[in-house]
Amino acid sequence: MSPVDAQTRAVKTDIGGTDIETGFRVVADTHSCAVSSLCVYRAAAVFDQDDDGHVTVLDPSPPPALHEDVRRAARSCPTRSIRVFENGVQTAPDPAADNH
Ligand code: SF4
Repeated sequence: MSPVDAQTRAVKTDIGGTDIETGFRVVADTHSCAVSSLCVYRAAAVFDQDDDGHVTVLDPSPPPALHEDVRRAARSCPTRSIRVFENGVQTAPDPAADNH
């Protein structure tokens, strides 16, 4: 199993069976979130923060008009807590950067 496959499997486990095999899906890890608010700034219709400031995903399958904003949010998250999957493949942030 490649590192990307293993990572995808781990995320699937984390989100408790949410379907990330098809379409555009965004997931976020509240445990690693550093409460920077950058994602909310970039895509307020998709991300919010809980009472402690940790990220929450308002819309895990946002409409196409928001896809690039969500990819940018994932790429700019300082803790790489947001992941975007398109048709089951992680497209943001760059999964290759996780292996360094
Ligand atoms: S950009 Fe990353 S660290 Fe900042 S609030 Fe969003 S998920 Fe948390």
